[in-house]
Amino acid sequence: MSVLDAKRHHEDLVEELIAEVESYNPDVDKDLLRRAFEFAERAHAGQTRRSGEEFIHHPLGVARVCAELHLDEQTIAAGLLHDVVEDTGADLDELRSEFGGDIAVLVEGVTKLTRISFQSREQAEAENYRKMIVAMAQDVRVILIKLADRLHNMRTIEYLGKQKQAQKARETLEVYAPLAHRLGIHALKWELEDLAFQTLHPRKYAEIKAMVADQRADREAQADKAAEILGLELHKADVPAEITGRAKHLYSIYDKMAKRGREFNEIYDLTALRVICERSGDEGTRDCYAALGLVHSLWKPMPGRFKDFIAMPKLNRYRSLHTTVIGPEGKPLEIQVRTRDMHEEAELGVAAHWLYKRGRSSKADDEWLTWVKSLMDWQAEEQDPGEYMRSLRTDLFSDEVYVFTPKGEVKVLPSGATPIDFAYAVHTDVGHRTVGAKVNSRIVPLHYRLKSGDFVEILTTKSGRGPSRDWLAVVKSSRARNKIRQWYQRETRGETEAKGRELLDQALKAQKLPYRKLQGSSVLAQVIRDTGFRKAEDFYVALGAGKLPPAQIVNKVIQRLKTDEGVVEPVVTSKPRRAKTAVSSDRLGISVTGVDDVLVRLAKCCTPVPGDGIVGYISMGRGITVHRADCPNVRALQRNPERFTDVEWEGGASAGFLVQIAVDAWDRARLLEDVARTFAEHGANIVSYGGVVEDGMARNWYTAEVGDVKDLRSLLTALRNLEAVFDAYRVTPS
Ligand code: MN
Repeated sequence: MSVLDAKRHHEDLVEELIAEVESYNPDVDKDLLRRAFEFAERAHAGQTRRSGEEFIHHPLGVARVCAELHLDEQTIAAGLLHDVVEDTGADLDELRSEFGGDIAVLVEGVTKLTRISFQSREQAEAENYRKMIVAMAQDVRVILIKLADRLHNMRTIEYLGKQKQAQKARETLEVYAPLAHRLGIHALKWELEDLAFQTLHPRKYAEIKAMVADQRADREAQADKAAEILGLELHKADVPAEITGRAKHLYSIYDKMAKRGREFNEIYDLTALRVICERSGDEGTRDCYAALGLVHSLWKPMPGRFKDFIAMPKLNRYRSLHTTVIGPEGKPLEIQVRTRDMHEEAELGVAAHWLYKRGRSSKADDEWLTWVKSLMDWQAEEQDPGEYMRSLRTDLFSDEVYVFTPKGEVKVLPSGATPIDFAYAVHTDVGHRTVGAKVNSRIVPLHYRLKSGDFVEILTTKSGRGPSRDWLAVVKSSRARNKIRQWYQRETRGETEAKGRELLDQALKAQKLPYRKLQGSSVLAQVIRDTGFRKAEDFYVALGAGKLPPAQIVNKVIQRLKTDEGVVEPVVTSKPRRAKTAVSSDRLGISVTGVDDVLVRLAKCCTPVPGDGIVGYISMGRGITVHRADCPNVRALQRNPERFTDVEWEGGASAGFLVQIAVDAWDRARLLEDVARTFAEHGANIVSYGGVVEDGMARNWYTAEVGDVKDLRSLLTALRNLEAVFDAYRVTPS
């Protein structure tokens, strides 16, 4: 074809397009469409599609689909221009000055959607993608152009590689066809589904197509006969109507066979007629019911197959009467009755509303979008109307944003959400460790407001410094807010518990009771149980929070000591085998001020671990013994102050340290097993253990190697959280 021929050919094509738009919109701005076409033609000049044809045929095809949907001229023009920003050097400012803001906004919206690849992994994900498209589109026409774009690409999918074909087809089936369904555009939905079905399952598709063709003659004869009988009756009753046959699309047959496990022959509603009543309004509606009455008087209706979607429209506004009768040949015949208006709405859905009412205010647009969004949120269609209204209402007030994780998963967050909300949506731990965020590869402040389509990456720190209180003022999701609050509550709980233990110690001391011995004793455990606590931790928190008077507890302890004849057993009964005795100071990770390579041992009485405050005591001929600073023996040794020397922990000590831990628990099966597993999970190696059972309480002592004070703390927390464990604590020497 010569250049001139090609030019003339293009002109023919654009005139065809204009003629099609003019058929439903006589006032169409022909000049606008010609200019849009020329702009696109210039921009895409020299580009070809995989099929070898000039690229301009694609935007032209998309505009044709938009025209089939009877869309307005802005949308048709935007359809022609939809790929110029993405695929050519054209920029939005240029479009804005050439074609006005409206069209530029539409092209921008389509471009944004094109840049996102919806590689859905599962159904739930697909639903989020659909919502995301709606949220990002802002103008429903953007979605319509995108659907037209997808339809044209599916019509020409054969030129893509096999893998790409399958991916596009799956995406079409999971994201775009349901989207078309929600918007009520059935004409688009069916074609998208059949094209995707043909691509994904070519053999099944061919099989069903052959079976349908096989029965066609038979079916058509039956349909013709029924149509003739019904047409006559309608005429007699003065109901102007058109009767048409109706082809089932192949994917819906396949879907029924696959999902409901039916055989092809069992899907009996293959012969179908549609009665379209010509009059509109109330008159048309009356005609529909009259036609239905005639159908039911002619042929016996099948029970349970009548549905009145005129009195109760579907949520995508679909209106029609459905019935199945035993037809003239004694075979089932499915009949739909609707008015011409209802029919157009059923075929074009959202698009039908778009064109006819021109000069709508922007408020009407908002209502429109709200309605579309409510449709998107609606999963199952035939549910109770109350539920529907509720979902509609919540949708009016809570807007959402849809953002991507670096792996391309979608997260749904309330609008105004920040990277902190996102971090907590990924994982609580990620939230707690957040120190910064990147959005679309750029560092942003943590109060940044996320927008739909953003790719979000969270920067975390390994050291658990925890959330900031300031975050509570910026986060939008209740999940993030709750997690941050919980973190602070847990922190405070620890403090309150420590305070409770201290209060009790003081109260016991004031009564001259051996408080250290009592701490882990069964006497105290019984008192705590009598007070109504199953976990010692809860008891101490209550004490610390001032909800229990310590004096009352002390009285109970005294009572019990009297009745138990004052049996306070020694806390540590087992004599642990020492894993380490005396070793060189640097191997223990302890440095002695002013001295190198001196013999150092850890005191058996208090077994300090890294992180503890420590002092060194010079023992005769045995080097330096390291005690915890709060060890009672240290006080006793104060008589010889000259023998004390400064010692400190060195960073990075890797050797384990021996510590004695008591675990008190109400006896139960497999308790020891759970305790041992907990030690193991915290990397604590049990060196020795012993235990007794008293009054139903198992009291066990373990000597174990732990890394440092932090490890010890988390081990104790885990032990306390075990089922039936009453308390777990580090044994303090008496
Ligand atoms: Mn395109």
